[in-house]
Amino acid sequence: MAIPMALDEWALGSRSFSIVDTHSIKIEPRAEQKFKEISNAYEVLSDDEKRPIYDKYGEAGLKGSGMGMGMGMEDFGDPFDLFETLFDSFGSMGGMGMGGRGSWARATEGEDQIYNLVLNFKEAVFGAEKEIEIIGLETCGTCDGSGSKPGTKSSKCSTCRGQGQVSTSLRTPLGTFRQAMTCSSCGGIGETPTPCNTCRGDGRVRESKRISLKVPGACDSSDRLRVRGEGNAGKRGGPHGDLFVIIDVLQDPVFKRDDMNILYNCQVSYIDAILGTKMSVPTVDGMAELKIPPGTQPGTTLVLAKKGVPFRYKKTNARGDQLVKVQVEIPKRLSDEERKLVEELSNLNKAKTTNTRR
Ligand SMILES: [Zn+2]
Ligand SMILES: [Zn+2]
Repeated sequence: MAIPMALDEWALGSRSFSIVDTHSIKIEPRAEQKFKEISNAYEVLSDDEKRPIYDKYGEAGLKGSGMGMGMGMEDFGDPFDLFETLFDSFGSMGGMGMGGRGSWARATEGEDQIYNLVLNFKEAVFGAEKEIEIIGLETCGTCDGSGSKPGTKSSKCSTCRGQGQVSTSLRTPLGTFRQAMTCSSCGGIGETPTPCNTCRGDGRVRESKRISLKVPGACDSSDRLRVRGEGNAGKRGGPHGDLFVIIDVLQDPVFKRDDMNILYNCQVSYIDAILGTKMSVPTVDGMAELKIPPGTQPGTTLVLAKKGVPFRYKKTNARGDQLVKVQVEIPKRLSDEERKLVEELSNLNKAKTTNTRR
């Protein structure tokens, strides 16, 4: 169940960016040593609505959000119970092709996977291309995901004799009741294929794969990127789950983030603060010239416009600012000559004060 994606839409104050755009990602299965280009949509789940669902219910919550919300999912303690129940009932209605518990032949969707990706400050600001390695379940190459040994035919299920159902009788004081249940050996299809030797009938094998991710800019810690279809393969040819990449941004010794702005502290001598100066300060774009106006007060914030975080949307060139907080240094020791000059300045100041009082 896909989350509705609102393209071309973002709201700044609430930090509810929806999606970014479609990037291409490349996959390198170890055996092939070759990149296969595929197209995938990334979704940054910093949306206020989605995040609580994910935090609360994890993968099942997100996947089922379309279905679950309408059915009062909030009230269920364990979402898995609900979904298993739903899928079981859909399955027995003969519809949706979602597998129930313990069925042999039905395909099930693969589980989602989570990967924690560490970015440095600049990578989070501008985005980065990262190659990650994940270990998960991939479609078995021997049986092509079917779970059946190639070249073998399915035989009639011995448990249900091909009926797909088994009946049990229940004796009660009111009489004997017969109850028909889906056969657990064959999952209701009445046949048992010979299991593939490689995957033992699961249709998938544990493998490591490398994925090249294009992480969008303006990321921050605990943002989540969804890479569709890069989670575990489904059982017996079922669809892949999704991969959730959770961002962790390392602290920078120089810069701090404040949403789209970058904070920086600079030290200015008391003389420069009084007289004004031009100085060179680091920015995420390299060194930039900062003008300290004469009479700058300690704690003043100066703005280096458009040196902050670029907005993720390509349509706009908008960027945050770098906010520079000025710290004025007062020397703890003065040379004799300096002391003399400062004392002269002090006398001058006293004279000025007396003059104005008169
Ligand atoms: Zn296999
Ligand atoms: Zn059976």
